[in-house]
Amino acid sequence: MSLNVEQIRAQFPVLQEQVNGQPLVYLDNAATTQKPQAVIDALVEYYSTYNSNVHRGAHFLSDKATRRYEEARQVVANYLNASRTEEVIWTSGTTEGINLIAQGVAQRLQPGDEVVVTEMEHHANLVTWQQACKRAGAKLKVAPISDAGELDVSAFKALINEHTAFVAFPHISNALGTINPVKELTAIAKSVNALVLIDGAQGVAHGAVDVQTIGCDFYVFSGHKVFGPTGVGALWGRYEILKDWPVWLVGGEMIATVTYQDATWGELPNRLEAGTPNIAGVIGLAAAINWLQQFDANEILAHEQDLLAYATELAERIEGMRLVGTAPQKIGVMSFVLEGTHPADVGFILDKQGVAIRTGDHCAQPLMKRLGVPGTARASFSIYNTRADIDRLFSAIKKAQMMLA
Ligand code: PMP
Repeated sequence: MSLNVEQIRAQFPVLQEQVNGQPLVYLDNAATTQKPQAVIDALVEYYSTYNSNVHRGAHFLSDKATRRYEEARQVVANYLNASRTEEVIWTSGTTEGINLIAQGVAQRLQPGDEVVVTEMEHHANLVTWQQACKRAGAKLKVAPISDAGELDVSAFKALINEHTAFVAFPHISNALGTINPVKELTAIAKSVNALVLIDGAQGVAHGAVDVQTIGCDFYVFSGHKVFGPTGVGALWGRYEILKDWPVWLVGGEMIATVTYQDATWGELPNRLEAGTPNIAGVIGLAAAINWLQQFDANEILAHEQDLLAYATELAERIEGMRLVGTAPQKIGVMSFVLEGTHPADVGFILDKQGVAIRTGDHCAQPLMKRLGVPGTARASFSIYNTRADIDRLFSAIKKAQMMLA
């Protein structure tokens, strides 16, 4: 393994913090990643040296902010291998990106149409489609997963038919870590010409994504899960589809002409970006992606896989610890329950030892119900975690077991 993890860790100020008197072990990366100095510097530089509104100023600062803001769009377009830069729309995050598309879909769905999602959805990619279907009188179908948390591809295929108008699924499950075969699922949906959206919230932090190879129509993600700031994200959509997509927020920036009684809409990307955007966030997001791209994606993945394999090995030695989500294709997410304990209590005791994890339903209540657990404790690994972090996690878990027994 050639990633220099110690050198990477040194670039994250938060990782030098003490929590409850102990050096922080941050294992809540699926909720949000920490920010490297390069991202923090980009935000400080923007606010300290060229803070300005974009696209409208007749002055130096605005020109500079506009240039950086539009260069950021190019960075994301390259990261996703978009064929055109205008296919990248800035949003506040994954949730907003899915809502933007779901609202347009709701206007186009006919009674009798069907939308297909999976049993492993985050609420953001479930409630949106459920509500769109309710409004349009369309039917929501849910593709099943196995007890290990793997999508049943043949059952998914069986749900797709000539009524399928839209298909949405996660690239990677936040609660379980399962990596879905997104190219194969997209091809199945495309066999009936359904539109396909991929919830990429967990997909982008582990290496670049190629939307053209996947073949989907929409891909959405949040900046904060890929080492960037909160409050910013991107929606990628195919130009031919997005150029006529129903506008959702109306106001400044997105128009072509306005009279008192009427308005016409601008071109992509502006037509889907009303109002002053999160300029600092966009610039910070590009800094994050540029930072991440200095590493080999395969090495990041190998590092995270190594941590997962090590953690799994340690978990197997602990009586009463059960892993939830054991699909063969997984990123470094370890969801678990400790027999006879509640995940919230486990999280509390781990926190007291400086170990940050997430507990609860992970915004996936139906999934928890499907798996027969009230929630899980979830440790999620990133580029800057080490085997020493995993050792600290497990000594904290053993302590929690002792205290809660
Ligand atoms: N989908 C998945 C798979 C996620 O992990 C998350 C964040 N937990 C979201 C959607 C929503 O992302 P955000 O809250 O950044 O909009």
